Amino acid sequence: MSELMPAAFIGHGSPMNALDHNRYTACWTNFAASIPKPSAVLVISAHWYVNITAVTAMKIPRTIHDFYGFPQPLFDVQYPAPGDPQLAQRVIDLVEPTYVGLDADSWGIDHGTWSVLVHMFPQADVPVLQLSINAELPFDYHFNLGAKLHALRSEGVLILGSGNVVHNLRLIDWHLPGEGRDWARRFDDDMREIMTNDPGDLGTASAHADYALAVPTPDHFLPLAYVAGLSAAANTNTTTLIDGYEMGSLSMTAYELSGE
Ligand code: ZN
Repeated sequence: MSELMPAAFIGHGSPMNALDHNRYTACWTNFAASIPKPSAVLVISAHWYVNITAVTAMKIPRTIHDFYGFPQPLFDVQYPAPGDPQLAQRVIDLVEPTYVGLDADSWGIDHGTWSVLVHMFPQADVPVLQLSINAELPFDYHFNLGAKLHALRSEGVLILGSGNVVHNLRLIDWHLPGEGRDWARRFDDDMREIMTNDPGDLGTASAHADYALAVPTPDHFLPLAYVAGLSAAANTNTTTLIDGYEMGSLSMTAYELSGE
């Protein structure tokens, strides 16, 4: 019996979700409770968007508070999960000849990761690695790199993309809690059509009429490319874990790639 660990894309939204308890955070908690306990979590977070592809390889990754203007309790959050240097090397070897750098002392666990994992694994007892998003490279690179990570799923590794399908901070409207503008809903709906029917088509997103509004910068969208790549590699579609909107211009949609 070869079991595949599920994988998922999580719409993480505001860093405040780390401290809140709402229907999104309940969904993340329930998802973690519904799957076998992973040997490690490999996260592709929107917030490690740099000009190189790298994987964290420290034994004790630090908790990074990569935001400003939030209440002190958010800066006080620590997520003391261990790293897994051996798994970092495994990732590097697995995706060759694609180059992945070994990050021994630069990054750690950013809020795209810990704001979700505090709900999924509150004990911080599952090792955590992050894979950076190389900002220099196009969609297909990320999709294909995601597909190359497929083998990790049979080694008990939970792969998470953490971003937001629709993420336009300039157009945030605080008068629209729990709502999405028409363009945000159109884009999110059409991406859902793809993710639940043929994730291999996600590369067509950039031709969508609402792409420029929904994805003004690719950082929060590209984690979805990794999960789409994993889906294509497994020849399966994803299912919607939860959907919803915030402030008009954020989508909180999350997708699960099941282990079957
Ligand atoms: Zn974010």
